[in-house]
Amino acid sequence: MAQGDRTEGNALLQALRSGDRMALGRAITLVESTRPADKAAATALVRDALKADTASVRIGVTGIPGVGKSTLIDALGMELIGRGHRVAVLAIDPSSTRTGGSILGDKTRMERLAGEDRAFIRPSPSGGTLGGVARRTREAMILCEAAGYDRILIETVGVGQSETAVDQLTDLNLLLAIGGTGDSLQGIKRGIMESADLIALTKTDGDNEPRNQRAAMDLKQAIALLPPRENGERPPVKLCSATTGKGIPQLADALETIAATNLANGYQARRRQAQTHWWLHAAIQEALAGEFNNDARIRMALPAMEEQVARGEISPFDAAEELLRVFRG
Ligand code: GDP
Repeated sequence: MAQGDRTEGNALLQALRSGDRMALGRAITLVESTRPADKAAATALVRDALKADTASVRIGVTGIPGVGKSTLIDALGMELIGRGHRVAVLAIDPSSTRTGGSILGDKTRMERLAGEDRAFIRPSPSGGTLGGVARRTREAMILCEAAGYDRILIETVGVGQSETAVDQLTDLNLLLAIGGTGDSLQGIKRGIMESADLIALTKTDGDNEPRNQRAAMDLKQAIALLPPRENGERPPVKLCSATTGKGIPQLADALETIAATNLANGYQARRRQAQTHWWLHAAIQEALAGEFNNDARIRMALPAMEEQVARGEISPFDAAEELLRVFRG
């Protein structure tokens, strides 16, 4: 690594540790950069940031678009700031990997938080695979923690795969939903519910109030039939309104209780350890796949092999073996 990279990284780390938000923004831009020239400095920066001794809680906030995630994050974030915390809001938005533009983490949707010195809001990194986006979000999270943010909220659209990625980043997950008409629940899929540590029925105001109360009862019954989460707990169900603020302190209490329990019984440490194991293997697979796909011989051989597989002349498994033989030289 060039000496210049090292010095620049050190200066940046010191600045962000001293609370310089611009430096934090610049540091995140550096780790999000796909320029090969930035890679060494970014790696050193994250490695040094990891040494920071911080006691953070990483909270995933999931739910379908329109359910009220950003409005709730604004209200919850203000509540946490009122309790003396510093709040970072990051986002994983799989659609931004396609469009190149992010819809999540938009400052204008979190107006109160955006004006707070003790809050830092960053939209989803764009471009690349979901795994790549999640990895850059993880690095951004580590930088935020080194900068003294102790409550990290990671916003994700609840559309399937992205929960798996967010599950590898967070200590606990908050699922947002609203009661629907009849007995349907909007925004809950079984798989998603299984990764939730806490469920909040939001928009519990006006006409929604009786609907959400009914939905809360139904949900509690459904949850009683599910196996407990890995930490031995079943997710509590909370009613709240981000608009009126009703139920927000209780929601924050419930989150803090889960976080404190997970810390005390060692679950948080075990979970973070399992996550580093997962990231190790994800990084290996990504690197290997990258090398394979960029190999000149593979690029030459692959199209013909794909055609042969399509025509049924060779099985996909034999074709893969053959290509690996070429790759190994
Ligand atoms: P997201 O797409 O999940 O981030 O949802 P938003 O936070 O952007 O909210 C979607 C819409 O629901 C917006 O028009 C909000 O004003 C509205 N909304 C969000 N929270 C509440 C709430 O607690 N009560 C009511 N009545 N409306 C809300």
